[in-house]
Amino acid sequence: MRQTDFFGYGSIGRLKQIITGKRFSNIFLVADRMSFESSGAKDMLEPVIGNRNIMFFSEFDPNPRIEDVKRGLALFRQHGHDVVIAVGGGSVIDMAKLIAVFADHAESPELLITQKKALKSRDIPLVAIPTTAGTGSESTHFAVVYINGEKYSVAAPSVLPDYAIVDPSLTLSMPPSVTAATGMDALSQGIESFWSVQSNRQSAEYAKQAISLAFDNLKKAVLTPDNDSREKMALAAHLSGKAINITKTTAPHAFSYYLTKKYHIPHGHAVGLMLGRFIVYNNLVTEEDVTDKRGCGYVKKTMRLLLTSIGTETAEEAREKIERLMREIGLETAMAKIGLETKGDVDAWLSRVNLERLANNPRRVEEGLIREMLPQASV
Ligand code: NAD
Repeated sequence: MRQTDFFGYGSIGRLKQIITGKRFSNIFLVADRMSFESSGAKDMLEPVIGNRNIMFFSEFDPNPRIEDVKRGLALFRQHGHDVVIAVGGGSVIDMAKLIAVFADHAESPELLITQKKALKSRDIPLVAIPTTAGTGSESTHFAVVYINGEKYSVAAPSVLPDYAIVDPSLTLSMPPSVTAATGMDALSQGIESFWSVQSNRQSAEYAKQAISLAFDNLKKAVLTPDNDSREKMALAAHLSGKAINITKTTAPHAFSYYLTKKYHIPHGHAVGLMLGRFIVYNNLVTEEDVTDKRGCGYVKKTMRLLLTSIGTETAEEAREKIERLMREIGLETAMAKIGLETKGDVDAWLSRVNLERLANNPRRVEEGLIREMLPQASV
């Protein structure tokens, strides 16, 4: 799995080098029309790709659904292309990854995904250019897709884009709500990667940087954005992507997907809702319920280092700090207000949690203990 990545204001200029260097002339462009125009990407890309053959795929909603992936694939197969370029948020980048990866498979994508079949290497080159600062999807070897409302993660070396171009100027147009939700995703990915049972020295370094950058810059990027805070959040997101590319995510992500599908809570906001609670939960790890092979002492030490990175003494303070930040940037933290009002709502939610991501959590996740962490009104 290798990737060439470019970061910083003006890095979008690298696309010209890639396209002319590789002599790409038939481009399959995946983007959403709204952010493609408002981010300035359309104007920036026009001189670079304007004289090439371009097929534009944009008819899909956030959080890719398999039906849309199949429509994208059908369009892709109508003509020969020599590169796929994704310009947009995590949803757009995941859509482009799925089209590029499944393009070489004759079998139906649903079958390959639900039966977890091994995927072939990818023939078509893939370039990812994010316009949000949150997912880091440009640097991960997985893509999220929903089949009949169930969330699946497609993971294979071929899912990692060949090129990632992270130009913070494309994120300047994000409204506060999108900046807030996507920024929480970057913060969560940093924290989850840090405590993941699959962490290593390299992932911990990426994660630590992502956590500090996000804590120091998210509020500013939402409330009084300037070029510096946008650049730092773009870097936080990119590094959080590199971190989870090694470790994958953990419990807060596992609990988020149902909230996004059922209550339409944006991905990063949904993830943030359980983040503070899991800092408290994981900090209480014991010899009996530790899942990390490195042991309970190791996890406790990791949690202490995490609290230092967050700048708090205790896990409860860290939870308060995160939930205060969420409220300051306009993200609701009360479970009842986002839709989980009755015991039935909570039961339905807990029964649909993605178990795959729970295996990565350093402390075994027990339903009874999770219920205790939720407000009385909803249990
Ligand atoms: P998104 O891509 O769903 O976009 C959210 C909204 O922001 C959209 O309405 C979009 O039009 C708008 N938007 C995007 N860029 C904009 C800009 N510059 N200016 C104005 N508006 C803009 O949001 P996201 O948080 O980036 O992506 C979430 C998706 O990514 C989820 O489906 C999640 O599961 C997935 N994800 C994937 C990975 C991975 O590694 N593959 C990691 C994390 C999340």
